[in-house]
Amino acid sequence: MLPAEVSIREVGPRDGFQNEPETIRTEDKLRLIGILLDAGLRRIELTSFVRSDVIPQLSDAEEVLSGIEPRDGVVYSALVPNLRGLDRALGFTDKLGEVSFFCSATESHNRANVNRSIEESLGELEQAVGKASDSGLRCVSVISVSFGCPYEGRVEPETVFGIAERLVAAGCDEIGFGDTTGMANPRQVGEFFVAASERLDGTELTAHFHNTRGQGLANALAALEAGVCSFESSFGELGGCPFPPGATGNIATEDLVGMLEEMGIDTGVDSAAVVRASAAAQEILGRPLGSHVLTAGPVDWSGPEQSPEA
Ligand code: ZN
Repeated sequence: MLPAEVSIREVGPRDGFQNEPETIRTEDKLRLIGILLDAGLRRIELTSFVRSDVIPQLSDAEEVLSGIEPRDGVVYSALVPNLRGLDRALGFTDKLGEVSFFCSATESHNRANVNRSIEESLGELEQAVGKASDSGLRCVSVISVSFGCPYEGRVEPETVFGIAERLVAAGCDEIGFGDTTGMANPRQVGEFFVAASERLDGTELTAHFHNTRGQGLANALAALEAGVCSFESSFGELGGCPFPPGATGNIATEDLVGMLEEMGIDTGVDSAAVVRASAAAQEILGRPLGSHVLTAGPVDWSGPEQSPEA
C-alpha cells in the first residue's frame, strides 16, 4: 500500500553545490535556499563541514549557517565528515536540527572517498554520533554505494544492513541508502527495502537515488511500493558523486514531487515553486540543468481551453 504522505529532504545546497566546478557565491546560495523554503521544503541539507581544501565549493559553511533564518516547522541539517567537522557544526545548534554522517558500503569506495577503511570510519562515526546526540542533534547516516559500487560491483544487502545496524546502535535515528553512482534497478531496490524494513524496524529509512542512468524515479517508485516514505533529492537534478568522475545527478526534487503529487501522495511541496529555484540556479551556473519538470513545466490538467483567460 502506498503511503499518504512522503517526507523529502532537499540536498541540492550540499550534494549539488559541492559538485559544481565553480564555487557559488554565498549570497546566491542563500537566495536559492530561500526559494526552496518558500516552495514548502521542510528538510534542507544546507552544507557540509568538510575541509575547505577538500571541497572549496562549501568553504562558506559557517557563512551559510550564519545567514540562514530559523523557520517554523523547518529542520536544517549539515553533512559532517568527522569529529572535526562535528565541532564546527556544534557552533550552530541554534540553527541545526540534524546532522548527517556518511560511510561507504564497500572498502574501495570508502578508501577513494575518505582514504580510510570502513572500520576506521565507523569507529569515528560512533564517537561523533554520541557527541552529536548529547548536544541534542538528531543523527542521520547515509551509506554510499548501497546498491552497487563502481569498483566492486553488486553490493550484498547483508553488508549494508550490518553497517546500518552499527550506526543505529551508535544512536542514529535515520539511515539513508545512497545509489551514489546510479547503478540500482527498481527490482533490486524493492527487494532491498522490504528486507531493510524488517532488519531495521523502528528506524527511519531514507532513499537517496541518482539519475545517472535514468532510473532514479523508477527506483523511487519501487522504494515507495516497498514502504519507504522518506527521500532525498536535489532541485534541478544538481549533484553527483566525484568518484568516479562523470557520475552525475540526484533525482530532481521537482520531478519526484511532481510524480508523488500526481499520484495523490502529499509532499507539502509545490513543484512549480521548486522549478523557480532550478531556473534561478540555471542562470547562476550558466548551463541548463537536467530536471524534466523544469523543461516541460508541471502537469496542467485544465488545458489551455479551460483556463480563465481563454
Ligand atoms: Zn548523492
